[in-house]
Amino acid sequence: MANTDTQTRPAVLILLGPPGAGKGTQARMLQQDFGLVQLSTGDLLRAAVKAGTEAGQRAKAVMEAGGLVSDDIVLAILRDRMAEPDTARGVILDGFPRTPGQAEALDALLAEQGASVSAAISLEVEDAAMVERVAGRYTCARCGEGYHDRFKTPAVAGVCDACGSTEFTRRADDNAETVKARLEAYHAQTAPLIDHYDGLGVLKRVDAMGDITTIAADLKAIVREVSAQ
Ligand code: AMP
Repeated sequence: MANTDTQTRPAVLILLGPPGAGKGTQARMLQQDFGLVQLSTGDLLRAAVKAGTEAGQRAKAVMEAGGLVSDDIVLAILRDRMAEPDTARGVILDGFPRTPGQAEALDALLAEQGASVSAAISLEVEDAAMVERVAGRYTCARCGEGYHDRFKTPAVAGVCDACGSTEFTRRADDNAETVKARLEAYHAQTAPLIDHYDGLGVLKRVDAMGDITTIAADLKAIVREVSAQ
């Protein structure tokens, strides 16, 4: 992380949870409230796929099938992003780490810079609700505001509440079939990280089945608490 200030330790927050738990939505809100940078490896990988980079070409088929992209690709992308100056104040990691190997690499990367994970927040949800949550979601193509066919539609149909754009996008992997594979990958490879962060004493659990604003308030309280330490 590009931290040159030895007085303040940058906040490093991790959002853990299966697809549909609300990691992206909550990360965006925390970014606005605390001036931290949301760092989504999913977004970085989708950008690499769109740009047709070598890493993007290697990742594309795995992402379409709902599997996990190899650690070497993800870590290279993450390292580059963490080296950018806007991360100096702190980051909210959304969708990373996702495997024990990534968690260890992150711990080592942060240790090199005298930093460590401030909090790993586990968004606790029921799997059964996730398929519907994910399969109905879409975002504004211009500003990235998130919507859902059932749970959150724009006030004026077809017009983004946040920026007025009329263009929306849906992720290719947000379909029922792929969500099931993504949930399996989460339980097999990512859920064990909950114990890893519990062991480091930085795990926080949040009930993420309720409404977005209540969950956001819980997360804000955690970030205030860890920022004050
Ligand atoms: P997400 O936007 O976080 O749901 O990620 C979308 C897809 O990108 C995942 O299903 C994976 O194929 C890939 N991906 C994102 N982050 C990672 C990661 N940390 N490790 C491996 N694959 C990832």
